Amino acid sequence: MKPWEANFRSVTPYVPGEQPRPDGGRLIKLNTNENPYPPCPGVRRRLQDLDTDLLRRYPDPSASELTEAIAGYHGVSADRVFVGVGSDDVLGMAFLTFFNSPKPILFPDVTYSFYPVWAELFGIPCERVPLDEAWAIRPGDYMRENGGIVFPNPNAPTGLLMEKESVESIIRSCRESVVIVDEAYIDFAGDGASVCGLCDRYENLLVVRTLSKSYSLAGARIGYAIGSPSLIRALKNVKESYNSYTMNAVSISVGAEAVRDVRYLKETVQAVVRTRERAKERLREMGFTFPDSEANFLFAHHTEVPAAEIYQALRREHIYVRHFDGPRVSDYLRISVGTDEEMEMLYASLETFFSERQKIWTAGGCGRSF
Ligand SMILES: *Cc1c(COP(=O)(O)O)cnc(C)c1O
Repeated sequence: MKPWEANFRSVTPYVPGEQPRPDGGRLIKLNTNENPYPPCPGVRRRLQDLDTDLLRRYPDPSASELTEAIAGYHGVSADRVFVGVGSDDVLGMAFLTFFNSPKPILFPDVTYSFYPVWAELFGIPCERVPLDEAWAIRPGDYMRENGGIVFPNPNAPTGLLMEKESVESIIRSCRESVVIVDEAYIDFAGDGASVCGLCDRYENLLVVRTLSKSYSLAGARIGYAIGSPSLIRALKNVKESYNSYTMNAVSISVGAEAVRDVRYLKETVQAVVRTRERAKERLREMGFTFPDSEANFLFAHHTEVPAAEIYQALRREHIYVRHFDGPRVSDYLRISVGTDEEMEMLYASLETFFSERQKIWTAGGCGRSF
């Protein structure tokens, strides 16, 4: 070890899903919960009409056009909106800003795997609260002393939605710290599931959203938070002490365009939800079980074939799904919902794989169905 290396901040980083380079061949990417549909037509128009002068200048440090579009969408004032470079940026900034208690922050043991990474990076004590047998968050487990609470709703990678009343019961009981509800997938969970509307009642509630999934803009890196003006002010102070110009001018522009096209959002979300419901039937017929997802992915376990084996077989067919290592989750695959066509190819590949596998087992005289 070099002497200066003793001074390095060393962390175990979050590992994102693979982004394989398209090599011209067929590739079905169901591993990072991207939306299979293009961004709304206005986004394309904005890019086509882009004046490069926009890139010569520094961007608006407060990203007002985007902030105001988001405020308009939620029917709140702009001082309740904080924007960032994807919700990862917003969440990281929120951990840094709000989780400074010596008491541990609480989050589920099976959840977005970036939470423990930020906790380690910022030296925040944390406790992982086990989900119940059916993968659900038990609100009562969070009703105790803590330095903060964070969970996604719907949760990832389970896809399970917690009822609004249950989410509110956690927020209501939490009086001395900030509660972050990560609503990355809330648009897929139907109307009325969001707790955004509770932000004016609970000053310690921060709701985090992203344009990566439901708005088909993962590549533009746009996320935001809704909260009381005092939380938003605190977030801005930390952000402006670190990097004033986080959001680039192009993302501010296309993001504002996307947020205003509510109709397109509804249409594409509905298409994804329809495909998801059909996927539940098809996968069930093939022997998969899964929590009843209200997100744009399924967290699927096969009753007879190990997940790792299915993962490899699909990969050979250039179909990418996500497989996590770790207790409880390693026998599951997280499959993002693609277009109907992509999903048909997934089912076909799975069917071929299962029947080939059965033939080998039968020929080997093992006498089992798989
Ligand atoms: C995808 C995801 C995010 C991050 O999305 P960004 O692309 O950074 O906006 C945050 N939380 C959860 C639970 C996610 O699944």
